[in-house]
Amino acid sequence: MTVTVQPKPLTNYKARDYRMLIDGAWVEAADGKTLERVAPGHGIAVSRYQAGTKRDAEKAIAAARRAFDDGRWPRMTGAERSNILLKAADLIAARADDLAYLDTIESGKPISQAKAELGGAADIWRYAAALARDLHGESYNTLGEGTLGVVLREAIGVVSIITPWNFPFLIVSQKLPFALAAGCTTVVKPSELTSGSTLVLGEILAEAGVPAGVVNIVTGTGPEVGATMTTHPDVDMVSFTGSTGIGRLTMANAAQTLKKVSLELGGKNPQIVFPDANLDEFVDAAVFGAYFNAGECCNAGSRLILHKSIASDVIGRIAEISKQVKVGDPLDASTQVGAIITPQHLQKIQSYVAGASDGGATLAHGGEALDFGIGQFMTPTILSNVTADMAVAREEVFGPVLSVLTFEAAEEAIRIANSIDYGLSAGVWSRDFDTCLTIGRKVRAGTIWMNTFMDGASELPFGGYKQSGLGRELGRHAVEDYTETKTLNMHIGARTGWWMPR
Ligand code: NAD
Repeated sequence: MTVTVQPKPLTNYKARDYRMLIDGAWVEAADGKTLERVAPGHGIAVSRYQAGTKRDAEKAIAAARRAFDDGRWPRMTGAERSNILLKAADLIAARADDLAYLDTIESGKPISQAKAELGGAADIWRYAAALARDLHGESYNTLGEGTLGVVLREAIGVVSIITPWNFPFLIVSQKLPFALAAGCTTVVKPSELTSGSTLVLGEILAEAGVPAGVVNIVTGTGPEVGATMTTHPDVDMVSFTGSTGIGRLTMANAAQTLKKVSLELGGKNPQIVFPDANLDEFVDAAVFGAYFNAGECCNAGSRLILHKSIASDVIGRIAEISKQVKVGDPLDASTQVGAIITPQHLQKIQSYVAGASDGGATLAHGGEALDFGIGQFMTPTILSNVTADMAVAREEVFGPVLSVLTFEAAEEAIRIANSIDYGLSAGVWSRDFDTCLTIGRKVRAGTIWMNTFMDGASELPFGGYKQSGLGRELGRHAVEDYTETKTLNMHIGARTGWWMPR
């Protein structure tokens, strides 16, 4: 059984038409084509975006290049850029409900969660605004009488920013304000499934005072717009969040002109649980980690690695809670698990569950699609008796599916945790300080949560080990990522000659 919230039809909803932002103007695609987005929770068309072409992407890159080279943004003072970013943060906060609504109808995520993401996003813009005033290099006054060394941090130039559909506004906010704080100009491509809130951000930034051409937003598909943004010689850096497969392609494309690349990719994140853990706290974090954003989350805690002595008790408790998690209408304030992004993705999730069952895993709860007559949904699902070699334990399912594995000795848990290609995040649960720190040091992942899961803050760096990515977002070094280092090597007094020693 699952607690369901029947989606209410969006009667009288008029699909919204969007244009793209290139060089300060709202324009249509060069060939006039559009893409339609059908709401995953409501089954009707809610948005029509421009299907941008290679030509549109090239125009946007040229506009960003001009805006960088003429200095209209990079030559402002840090304080001036900071004030504009703060104004943007205020405008984001003022329009948070509208933006959250757009993210909800386009992605299918619960509205309460979308509102929380908007709060987090506004905070990131404020944090980046603070860093804009603190970007600085180094000086070396220790190189001898005749030398002074100064190391400058300069904006890297034109940055292509490419984002996925699962956290549309939050992820662009993990990149764009830091690139802007550094003084870069940008071309942004949101996912073709969830472009609405990013386009509204374009309006907000213009109102906040970002000059024309500094932020260009091109909608469309990856192979057309994204590929141009990652190969064009006038782009200096690519900041990409998405699947590991497209991340690999992005890096190969960028390698042709040796662009700097920052990648935030997939995850298959373990939670390792010891018998002395506070299990009441843990079971809540387990369902949150697995079902938050319907499991369509790079950070999903989709692999539980439980000590054998507690496994059957914990699986039973998680199964009971899973029955009570509310699944359904993304726009209902009480919903905890919304819709699945597309019908094809729902099929993919179900084929992982079927494959695991065929391979010997036990379906402890769920596994079915929920038919509300509109949209596509899935029950929270738990698979026990999963072994470390199964696809469901190694690959990103990206749905509300929890795989449970077991261990006896800590070293075995660490081995299982590290046995896959991903290394984004991990959790450890124990009341023993030594146990938490040992696991924390030995598991190869960018974030380790101890007795909690999926917490975060603008101050804390985020990113992956291994094939979960390259580089880190957030944290105090996030602006530096969008800079080049330049050395000024200065001579004082007479120089020692080379061909005529003095
Ligand atoms: P995706 O890789 O299919 O698409 C991501 C973006 O890349 C989209 O805008 C898409 O249009 C674009 N793209 C597609 N083909 C391209 C190409 N050839 N060249 C350039 N761009 C191209 O990913 P998705 O399905 O939108 O998102 C889900 C994935 O994102 C998951 O794997 C998830 O783990 C990952 N993700 C990672 C993080 C993180 O911070 N590590 C955060 C959120 C999502």
